[in-house]
Amino acid sequence: MSRLNELVFVPLGGVGEIGMNLALYGYGKGKARQWLAVDMGVAFGKEDLPGVDAVLPDISFLRSHKKALAGIAITHAHEDHFGALFDFWPQLEVPVFMTPFSAGLLAAKQAGEPGAPKIPVTIVRQGDAITAGPFEVEYVPVSHSIPESNALAIRTPAGLVVHTADWKLDPTPLLGLPTDEARLRALGEAGVLALICDSTNAIRDGVSPSEADVAAVMEEQIAAAPHRVIVTTFASNVARLRTVALAAQKAGREVVVVGRAIHRALAVAAELGYLQGLKPFHDQDAFQRLPRDKVVALMTGSQGEPRAALARVAGGEHRAVRLARGDRVIFSSRTIPGNERAVNAIINALVDAGMEIITDRDALVHVSGHPRRDELRQFYAWTRPQILVPVHGEALHLHEQAKLARAAGVPEVVETRNGGMLRLAPGPAEWLENVAAGRLYRDGKLLLDPQVSGLADRRRMSWSGAVFVSIVMTAGGELEDDPQVALIGLPLTDDDGETFQAIVEDTVDEALDNLPGRRRRDAGVVRDTVRRAVRSQLDTVWGKKPPTVVLVTYLEA
Ligand SMILES: [Zn+2]
Ligand SMILES: [Zn+2]
Repeated sequence: MSRLNELVFVPLGGVGEIGMNLALYGYGKGKARQWLAVDMGVAFGKEDLPGVDAVLPDISFLRSHKKALAGIAITHAHEDHFGALFDFWPQLEVPVFMTPFSAGLLAAKQAGEPGAPKIPVTIVRQGDAITAGPFEVEYVPVSHSIPESNALAIRTPAGLVVHTADWKLDPTPLLGLPTDEARLRALGEAGVLALICDSTNAIRDGVSPSEADVAAVMEEQIAAAPHRVIVTTFASNVARLRTVALAAQKAGREVVVVGRAIHRALAVAAELGYLQGLKPFHDQDAFQRLPRDKVVALMTGSQGEPRAALARVAGGEHRAVRLARGDRVIFSSRTIPGNERAVNAIINALVDAGMEIITDRDALVHVSGHPRRDELRQFYAWTRPQILVPVHGEALHLHEQAKLARAAGVPEVVETRNGGMLRLAPGPAEWLENVAAGRLYRDGKLLLDPQVSGLADRRRMSWSGAVFVSIVMTAGGELEDDPQVALIGLPLTDDDGETFQAIVEDTVDEALDNLPGRRRRDAGVVRDTVRRAVRSQLDTVWGKKPPTVVLVTYLEA
């Protein structure tokens, strides 16, 4: 055990992937460390995880150090940073820190999710600091794509760490505070030991456009639209909702809100004074009533979510909103990887129905909330860290930021992955060990270890369906009745028109006929023989071997 007080950094999520951010800082002697968790987020399920709503980091390491966990500091209210709190807080029950807007969204989410735990939150205002164990944590304002985003300046007796979380250098964010250059310079002056930094856009040159640039384009787009305008965007991007509302106002149009998530975000924003200067919004029932050239609708569903408003509007199934040829639909959003197919389906349906579609390919109707290369360089120059650790990105993003930081002259640049424990002080930054890390699937009401989640079988069945056979025999091995066969997800017939039902039944009969009587009294032999015969026959006629379950029952003599 080390005799010196060490400062270590251990990411449990978000390093080597986009999403499920969870970072730990440990301070103390060897294993007697105290811990601070920064963020507790989710990643979303993809098509290769059928039925999985969200992917979460494995927190078994954190659970086993729960008594030494001083608190959880949340940087901002995006789901990839605070979406796992309801799942994990009851296992940890430690103080949670976040800003008023984040706390408002958490409370609104809690009210909308039956059974969600009530988490006692300690509110931190931007610019203020809190103390958790040996950590002093200052919330430093940064621009991003949700109100009240923060970098954390984490002070320990072993040195100062700046954990950037998600940020950009937008000098005109239009809502909330811009990235606090003066404060970051002052931290650099005082001496930053390590910078743990967002890598999302590290492969992109230059500087991200400003929210003010989007506002100018949005004004043009809305003013030039001949009929109705629908804008879909991320509900929590209140600056964007405001941008759209102001552009509508300028064009003499009323704003209608369609979708629960936007209503929820607006209610929280209104409470905190973020909607000042805006005319009241209308509810969805006003949409059809307003003249076509006097309305702008803010709508949920930019990611193609099947139950959100836009998907239902595109399908002609929305109760209050029907579009007509020539209406303009603006996607003020980026399609998150994995959602492309769903979003494209909606766009195609809208195009087929005669709508005019504007995406960020056509005009600057969206900007990213993450720093490009020139912004990263600027941040290094302000904070002048001794050590840089790239986080919040896939392998390529992390590696590109590492190269950029080296070229910019950062003395120590360390690439790491989830579960890797890095010592930041004392001495040069160094890998110490790997702790338990991994992922969990949120599947309905359960949190599952991928190994025992059933996902492998679920994927296989999504490819080829499944076959079930039930065989009932006497103790002597004679068939009591015809075997029962049930198929799920198989085609009805083969190329010759023979039904798969008949094909499987015949194959089962034949396999049993060929088994000598003695062997028919062994359930294992019967099961394996029938299973192999069915799969082999289906491979011959279909070219696929679906999962096959054979149940064998013997009646008492
Ligand atoms: Zn993020
Ligand atoms: Zn974010």
